Amino acid sequence: MLDKNEYDIIIAGGGPAGTTAATLLAQYGYQVLLLEQGQHPRFHIGESMLPMADPIMKRLGIDWSAGNLKKGGAEFIDEKSGKRVYFPLQSMHRTYQVDRADFDEKMFNNAIKQGVNAHQQEKVTAVECGEDSAIITTEKATYQGKYFIDASGRNALMGRNNNTINKLDMLGKYALYRHYKLAITPTTAKLFESGNIEIITTEIGWIWCIPLSENRLSVGLVVQKEKASELKQDELFDSYIHASSRMTELLVDSVLLTNVRVEADFSYFNSQRFGLRYACCGDSAGFLDPVFSSGFFFAVKTAEVVADQVHRGFIENRLVDPELMLNSDKVYQTGFQTMFLMIERFYCSNIVENLFFESDREPRLKNEIIGLLSGDLWTETNSFQQGLLRGRNKLKN
Ligand SMILES: Cc1cc2nc3c(=O)[nH]c(=O)nc-3n(C[C@H](O)[C@H](O)[C@H](O)COP(=O)(O)OP(=O)(O)OC[C@H]3O[C@@H](n4cnc5c(N)ncnc54)[C@H](O)[C@@H]3O)c2cc1C
Repeated sequence: MLDKNEYDIIIAGGGPAGTTAATLLAQYGYQVLLLEQGQHPRFHIGESMLPMADPIMKRLGIDWSAGNLKKGGAEFIDEKSGKRVYFPLQSMHRTYQVDRADFDEKMFNNAIKQGVNAHQQEKVTAVECGEDSAIITTEKATYQGKYFIDASGRNALMGRNNNTINKLDMLGKYALYRHYKLAITPTTAKLFESGNIEIITTEIGWIWCIPLSENRLSVGLVVQKEKASELKQDELFDSYIHASSRMTELLVDSVLLTNVRVEADFSYFNSQRFGLRYACCGDSAGFLDPVFSSGFFFAVKTAEVVADQVHRGFIENRLVDPELMLNSDKVYQTGFQTMFLMIERFYCSNIVENLFFESDREPRLKNEIIGLLSGDLWTETNSFQQGLLRGRNKLKN
């Protein structure tokens, strides 16, 4: 029997990573405390999902078809050359474009339904992991756990405490984005029917165009190559959106739903993702870039890997082993490295122009790219992936 304020596992962060780890551990029968500094529903960017998150949603008991727009695939567009390429992403599993405020709340409530003790508006302020226990201090109380999971997103509690956050300067530098309500025209109706994310390359980065339910569109400009400009951020956003013929076509008679929002300095990895009685998952372990929509998938995938390994740690009486996560982290990193190498080549060697646009002529290559864009990152048969992993510029962990 545990005393009040004592838990098997304590988790900081009630986003997708934290709620996934919490729910899976509660399913195993552990006493889990989930601490979230905010209050759901809260806004979060990150709306386009990958199919390989679907098996995890099923494990959690979440029906993500409800209220969300089915995603068909991803289309890459270069308006200068007129080239386009489409990758269908529905062959393995279904996936969706979601409203994160509602969806994250749904995941949080689902965790509670499955037995997680969850507190909102309670920020973790200090973590001390020792031989005997993990002591977690918040603004309201002190708790004792047998294991601690850092799912604090880009706040990266443990990484920042340990000074192990490594910025990735060559990826996207900042993103400007806003939401619109579109008028229904034959063009917009086709987009909502397909549910495709569109990625339009520009000279300073790229534009995302994500159709959401109720005829809404999320549009973002990710800037990688900064050019000296007198423009304010919303003017910069508008200038690139208006310069795009595709965006102009879609936004005819649209209504603005939000002002321009900004996210900056989001690309990094944490070189110390686990240690004595703790592990990091989701963005607290690293976040790359939004271009291939992999953030949510990596968040729930790391959380699944960590939760299953913590369960093994309980069974094998190894919670105190600082290397409990060593092997599972190594496996996970194969997927994370692969995505990093694809994104690095997107920005630094124009993988879209040099390879994606050509892939329609090579069905095997096309299928291999579809696999990676779906989040199928742990097969041993993807020769395109093997080539990436043998090549240059891997992350140095
Ligand atoms: C511009 C941009 C666009 C993106 N687009 C996409 C996309 O289209 N598709 C996609 O899959 N991903 C996208 N992402 C990434 C995606 O949003 C994240 O990878 C995902 O939300 C990570 O989930 P998480 O649970 O790790 O972190 P979060 O979702 O950030 O959740 C962390 C939670 O921890 C809480 N927290 C933080 N500190 C504390 C503390 N000290 N105590 C208690 N609670 C705390 C926070 O309030 C938050 O609720 C995008 C990211 C950016 C920057």
